[in-house]
Amino acid sequence: MFTTDDTADPNADLGAIFRRLIRNTGPISLSHFMGESNARYYGGKDPIGMGDGVSGDFITAPEISQMFGELIGLWLADMWINSGREEPVYYVELGPGRGTLAKDALRAARQYGLEPAVHFVETSAKLKDVQLKTLPGAIWHNDLSTVPGDGAILLVANEFLDALPIRQLVRMASGWRERMVGLDGDTFVFTAGEQPMDAAVPGEWRDAAEGTIIETCPAAAATLFEVAGRLEQQGGAALFIDYGHTRLNAGSTFQAVRRHTKVDPFAAPGTADLTALVDFGTLAQIVHSRGTRHIGTVTQGEWLRGLGIEARANRLAEQAPHLARDIHSAMGRLIASDQMGALFKVMGLAGSGWNGAAGFAPPNSDIPE
Ligand code: SAH
Repeated sequence: MFTTDDTADPNADLGAIFRRLIRNTGPISLSHFMGESNARYYGGKDPIGMGDGVSGDFITAPEISQMFGELIGLWLADMWINSGREEPVYYVELGPGRGTLAKDALRAARQYGLEPAVHFVETSAKLKDVQLKTLPGAIWHNDLSTVPGDGAILLVANEFLDALPIRQLVRMASGWRERMVGLDGDTFVFTAGEQPMDAAVPGEWRDAAEGTIIETCPAAAATLFEVAGRLEQQGGAALFIDYGHTRLNAGSTFQAVRRHTKVDPFAAPGTADLTALVDFGTLAQIVHSRGTRHIGTVTQGEWLRGLGIEARANRLAEQAPHLARDIHSAMGRLIASDQMGALFKVMGLAGSGWNGAAGFAPPNSDIPE
């Protein structure tokens, strides 16, 4: 990615930097705009709310309820036990946010004897500070390349892939073009690139109607390629949880959120969280291409129910009757289909010899994978 020196200055106005760049060299790709904006956004603040709907810019599942991380920890422990308790084993989390998921998952896993070394992949200096307080023993990495290769990995990524920069392609009369960000006066606007992009478009979309937009996320594809390859080589299992769809749909899903409200992604670059829906169908194909087992991709509601979230909520409520209403309302936010239950998907992967499919298949199902 092209990076101007002054984008590293946290006080420089990113909008002004983009305007100067576009005036000097022409429109920039949406992926350049999104990548630089999110690096600035995450680098300088902890945007994750505490579940009160007021603090932060957005809320994530581990901040809604401890049950989310705990059930992930139980799933990882189950896979590890089925593998014959392989050692060494590493817990690896991509974009761990406040570290809450890791803390809850590792506490639950410990009850089953699973106590892996903790490796975090995180680029935000601000969030690293928060994670350091939650899990002081963790080891940090800027990307996956330095994560150990000499043992099994249990990898988790919640709302990580949706923040990676996407590319958009648009069907024009003359063929497919990349959607670029240009200027109309001082205002950022979408404009079509000059290069033909037909070769980047999946076959079934080549002849789509003029105006059709499709999205790809090369950084998410590269992440799945790397993780799937490592699972085959090193052993282990992975969970990717994000809002997304299981097959590629037409249309832009690019959006910006600030203070729990959708805002104009072009208004003030670097001050809002820029995301797009994750295309799990394409990611599953990448996993298959590496020969790695794709256990399945199901809705977050199905997965959490399959792992017994309702029984867990009842037990927690019995232990703390004064919190019973809060516990059940948090569970509702995680699993109800009009909240996070249907839009969010859980994708499970496993290396050879790592058996188990808890949450991905109906109990007692004899349907083969
Ligand atoms: N998983 C957490 C946080 C989600 S927010 C939760 O569920 O609460 C996205 C996280 O990914 C943040 O920690 C952010 O700093 C990190 N992140 C975003 N882009 C990244 C990148 N390219 N490399 C590493 N981490 C990144």
